[in-house]
Amino acid sequence: MPRDTRSTTDRIASIKNAKVIKSFCYTCPWTCPIDVFVRDGKIVYHKGNDAAPNNIGTRCAKGMASAWVTRDPDRLRNPLLRTNPKGEPGEFKRISWDEAFDFIAEKLNTIRDKWGPEAVVYLTHHDPNGIFMVQLISQLYGTPNVSIGHGSACEGDRRSACVTTFGHIFPMHDFANAKYALLWGMNVLGANQALFESRGLLEAKKNGCKLVVVDPSFTETAQKADEWIPIKPGTDAAMALAMSHVIVDERLYDAPFVNEFCEGFDGFRNHLRERGYTPEWAAPICGVDAQTIRRLAREFATTKPAISAIFKGSGYYTNGAAAGRACYLLDAITGQVDGPGNLHLQEFAPIGMPAKIPDEVIAKPNKPPLAHAMGYKMTAPTSYPVLPEIPNARLPDAVLNDNPYPVRGLFVHAANPVMSDPNRERMQAMFAGLDLAVAVEIYMSETALECDLVLPNTSFFEQAEIRQGLWLGAEAILGQPVVPPVGEAKPMYDIVKGIADRMGWGEYFDFEHWEDWAENRIENLPIGLGELKRSGIWAGDVHYNKLSKGLATKSGKVEIYSHAYADAGHCPYPEWQERSVIPDDDYPLQLTHSKLSMHCNIVTQNNPMLMEICGENWVEINRLDATRYGVSDGQMVILESPKDKIEIRAKIVEGLTPGAVSVRHGHGFGHWAMGSIAKGKGAHSNNLMDSHTNPFTGTSSYNECKLRIRPA
Ligand code: SF4
Repeated sequence: MPRDTRSTTDRIASIKNAKVIKSFCYTCPWTCPIDVFVRDGKIVYHKGNDAAPNNIGTRCAKGMASAWVTRDPDRLRNPLLRTNPKGEPGEFKRISWDEAFDFIAEKLNTIRDKWGPEAVVYLTHHDPNGIFMVQLISQLYGTPNVSIGHGSACEGDRRSACVTTFGHIFPMHDFANAKYALLWGMNVLGANQALFESRGLLEAKKNGCKLVVVDPSFTETAQKADEWIPIKPGTDAAMALAMSHVIVDERLYDAPFVNEFCEGFDGFRNHLRERGYTPEWAAPICGVDAQTIRRLAREFATTKPAISAIFKGSGYYTNGAAAGRACYLLDAITGQVDGPGNLHLQEFAPIGMPAKIPDEVIAKPNKPPLAHAMGYKMTAPTSYPVLPEIPNARLPDAVLNDNPYPVRGLFVHAANPVMSDPNRERMQAMFAGLDLAVAVEIYMSETALECDLVLPNTSFFEQAEIRQGLWLGAEAILGQPVVPPVGEAKPMYDIVKGIADRMGWGEYFDFEHWEDWAENRIENLPIGLGELKRSGIWAGDVHYNKLSKGLATKSGKVEIYSHAYADAGHCPYPEWQERSVIPDDDYPLQLTHSKLSMHCNIVTQNNPMLMEICGENWVEINRLDATRYGVSDGQMVILESPKDKIEIRAKIVEGLTPGAVSVRHGHGFGHWAMGSIAKGKGAHSNNLMDSHTNPFTGTSSYNECKLRIRPA
């Protein structure tokens, strides 16, 4: 029998009698390219795109279950206008899209006349086609306040460390080529980091890479590690600085590299010595003995290639920005940055703006962005603010106290700050204080319930999108609509078009089909739209060791000495500072968090398949603490902070630093919003904590919270 030489995709298409449409999964921000098999207007199968280096044919469980979103009866279907006063749980009536666009345009004009364009903010945690809103609300309306990367509610401290040290906002991790991987609070395998990174880490391990995980929790990644270092929460900076001390003191650093490519190595050596950041100093702070710190430092410096990597875990404290820099300086002084097996400063695909707006029409903002005006911006005249995005947790200051200037209008798109940001009550008060609050969402979220207007958004299966892929090389990925929208849901490009028409800017968004704006976005790519539709991706080559071309830092080098910090009057080197909230006799436990691999954002908690696998979250507690506080495994417990309390199931574990508890987050949504499957499942920790933010980056410090625990 002749061998079937067709691709897997073609064979499945033939078996399913289906058409294949290339797209990408946007259940989480890692955007894995996918093949979607469609028959009679319905998705009959979907799989990873075999040609995509991001995921090479694979997906995670969330991606596999994602088509549910196209048939979920709980989806928003029509525009809804609030009928009762703000501050009360929202009641809504159905309106037409024309009425919705008229309402928004009138409010935008009123706010601009009274408060100025900067009084309107666009906020998205997960930005499907957010670029259209950026063009409308920033380039035309004139606000500098668009936040499309959700950094301050996520890994903003890491981004800040990357920008100030490497002049790059989001380096990837080339784990596949590493021989030594030192991960700080980074649960690549449990939290579903980019799939090529997870796969690369496992392959590297098979090839002899030593994996060391520094984390208070024995996470999924720690369970695969050669060595787990159960550090005290919020003390990563101390241990990383002590490791640098050893490497510098024992001359294990890469002298040619630091001389040629780094700024400020000699000053850093003096800083470490003057501050006395030795392993003996760090040991009682971080709970890791001095011999272990010294041994790990030697191993790290003498095994090449090695990578010291962070994501969110080191950054959920008010000392998280310094921790990020301290962990990254290990990569710098050992001469590894951007080499195979280290942080990878990937290039970006030349994706253009969808609408062509003439330069003379583009508005010049009158006020600085909130992120700068709030005081976090380092004053250096550089292109790299320490905080690239609006600090969400401080947005209520602008709405409720006009600090640093008034904000009265807010578009919230694919974001749920009432649940996702610390201090829910203050977020709710903020929404009550707005003249215009618009939610663009696929479900009636807790945040949508606080808004004036709720607009039904299409899911990624129902809309087109072109964006950067997250991979080691430049990459453009294409999402295509594969099924019709649910109800009257619209993609962001049609919503922006409708508002722009009412505001007198319709000519810039005069697209008949999505292909019209797509052509604008890819005009500088070496691939046409037809070919991109057939392949789903365009990927450039991977280039290593690019530092000689210069970095986007003030010095053009890897900044061990940070000009951004120095120019703002701060120490240019990472310093050890204790976190803000320390447990005491009344509240003896430290809150920490880790993710659930089955859940992400607001799109998985109403998915029956994912909820069957993981239907509620829990708090992990060390057996010693469980015994001390009378907690049994599986029991419902009350977790109480000075601010609020929640009821959640307890899980007793051996692998957690005593004195800490770890809330697996990603649940507790839908308690009072719609979502028949999500409703009442699990607990959410955001109202336990106050609005602590990192003083340099504005990133929410989710772990700055002390607790006590008791059986419910
Ligand atoms: S990691 Fe999973 S949820 Fe995220 S984009 Fe890929 S398949 Fe989708």
